[in-house]
Amino acid sequence: MEPSCKNCGAELHGEWCHECGQRAMKGRWTVKSAFTQLFSAITNVERGFLFTIIQMAIRPGTVIKDYIEGKTRPYFPPFRYAFILVTISAVLTVWSGIFDTQQEAFSYFEQADQTESQAVFQQQLGEGIKRFLNLLIIIVLPFYALSTWLLLRKKGYNYAEHMIASIYLVGQTSFYGIFMVPLYFFAPDMMTLSMGVS
Ligand SMILES: [Zn+2]
Repeated sequence: MEPSCKNCGAELHGEWCHECGQRAMKGRWTVKSAFTQLFSAITNVERGFLFTIIQMAIRPGTVIKDYIEGKTRPYFPPFRYAFILVTISAVLTVWSGIFDTQQEAFSYFEQADQTESQAVFQQQLGEGIKRFLNLLIIIVLPFYALSTWLLLRKKGYNYAEHMIASIYLVGQTSFYGIFMVPLYFFAPDMMTLSMGVS
């Protein structure tokens, strides 16, 4: 009798099930197979992730074009890529105090005749943004993609393809944002200066 897939029952021809994609399982779990899986989970994630960061830094156009055209295997999936990097960057921005510094910089422009309740609202808004900073950046994505799609419609890419490009680019921008944190610690004045409120 031919071996069958333990997940969907399809007849197996080779290492992977052609129906559901599960790897053929021979026999039972062993300590060795469990550790092999743990090890490959760690190293594979790192390889795809670091590889994508490096490729996005040196040839972002190739990564995006490859992925859109279906060559997805070498790259870390765009949404997870952006989610991880945006979250790291958002957490560091809040933790380091950069976010508060920026908030102060913005309040510099506020009107002097602001009422008490307006000030309270402003503060609560700031706290809310702080807590969901990473989600907010991700919520903005579809609109960001919409604008690039409208601008570059003639290139022939559809909206979903623009989404993929935007997601990768937002992830990469967040990755570079991480480097703002040490900069802020070494030269906090430069940060305020760059925001035009020295
Ligand atoms: Zn199967």
